[in-house]
Amino acid sequence: MTAGNEHYQFFDDVCSYVDKAAQFTNHPSGLLDQIKQCNSIYKFHFPIKTDTGDYHVIEAYRVQHSHHKLPVKGGIRYSMTVNEDDVKALAALMSYKCALVAVPFGGAKGGVKIDTRIYSSGELERITRRYTAELIKKNFIGPALDVPAPDYGTGSREMAWIADTYSAFNPNAINAIGCVTGKPLSQSGINGRTEATGKGVFIGIREAVDVAEDMKRLKLEKGLEGKRIIMQGFGNVGFHSAKYLQEAGALIIGIAEYDGGLYDEKGLDVVEVEQHRRKTGSILGYRDLKTVANSASMLEYECDILIPAALENQITTKNAGKIKAKIIGEAANGPVTKDAEEILVERGILIIPDLYLNAGGVTVSYFEWLKNLSRVSFGKIDKRYNKLNNYRIVEAIENATGHSMTDSQKNAIVRGATEEDLVMSGLEENMVNAYHEVRETFNQLKGVKELRTAAFINSLNKIAISYLDLGIFP
Ligand code: GLU
Repeated sequence: MTAGNEHYQFFDDVCSYVDKAAQFTNHPSGLLDQIKQCNSIYKFHFPIKTDTGDYHVIEAYRVQHSHHKLPVKGGIRYSMTVNEDDVKALAALMSYKCALVAVPFGGAKGGVKIDTRIYSSGELERITRRYTAELIKKNFIGPALDVPAPDYGTGSREMAWIADTYSAFNPNAINAIGCVTGKPLSQSGINGRTEATGKGVFIGIREAVDVAEDMKRLKLEKGLEGKRIIMQGFGNVGFHSAKYLQEAGALIIGIAEYDGGLYDEKGLDVVEVEQHRRKTGSILGYRDLKTVANSASMLEYECDILIPAALENQITTKNAGKIKAKIIGEAANGPVTKDAEEILVERGILIIPDLYLNAGGVTVSYFEWLKNLSRVSFGKIDKRYNKLNNYRIVEAIENATGHSMTDSQKNAIVRGATEEDLVMSGLEENMVNAYHEVRETFNQLKGVKELRTAAFINSLNKIAISYLDLGIFP
């Protein structure tokens, strides 16, 4: 599926975005240098014994980009594409992402260079537990220091192993369970974390297409109804993004995966495709649709919105001139390279940037961390009280007006908020506000050509203020 250039320097691209944004600010240059650097980089190797009795030496990383706020936060990626440059870039993006959506963390990222498909779940558990132990030895994990989460190739299962290993090494740490987010519900996870990134992608795209004047410029109608979408990647983020977009009336006409793609101009049913994948191990063969063998070519298909939801370096100078989408929604981190972006923007394509669009995951991770520190689920204390209070209000309205409501009307009003309601409401609030703040910067500052630059300006200003308030750069 990979369409990218081989010697791609992702971290350089992220630094260039900061430099470009910095031209629209007047922070001291030394402060900008400090913000751009990765504060701590830990590269290590450790052995694991495979099920057949062999030993494999595993290459791994944890990078903490910015300590302007603690803990630092960011996922752990399991992929053969992992390298130091990649993890540095992803860690830096986390700092800018958190600042942009008002999540009070610095940025970090972890990576383990493995092909998850060649290991059994027992082997993956040994890799994950040993990786965690190595982080503990160097103080690179902890609820007050550095809090990992899922990323490409990892999920709630790995997070449970990390939490358990950390707790075993720190039996007296009362906040131990807050050392990682994205855990299963039974292990102090939070309702809505699995869907969070996809839900955030949906909210971000919905906000963008709901601005009629911006859509007019792209020669598109306002709203999601009938928008033709191609997804690249159908993992947790791709699937949930597609599901919410489809529920809002968009047509998912193509899904590109690493082993091939599906295309149907009438729209695929994403839930059925997911069920088929769960049964057979692949999206291919769904309803006997012809497989698109070269799935990378699907990035170039005719559509309204293209959503790369897999890895970085997918839209490069090689294919940017051939992209036919009017909007690119970066659900993945870094799917469009800096040079490709210049070509795309020149061609009038709107890019909704990663540091904004996929920030829903870390937003809900923040809520999970808060839940872990407070040891109480959201809504637990006040749900019943609110329900009773709402009931009294309904009763008073009925008495005052002489009208009685139907049971379903009453239930819709009186029901107190569940944890999931509250999580989704917080997520929506963060994503909607951040989009309009980015758009405002984009419209107000003359010379800003990309939403990405506007997003970096907003982040940079917030991080700079936080350093300046520390008095480090008087
Ligand atoms: N890996 C996700 C990201 O890139 C989530 C990070 C988190 O929840 O800490 O944003």
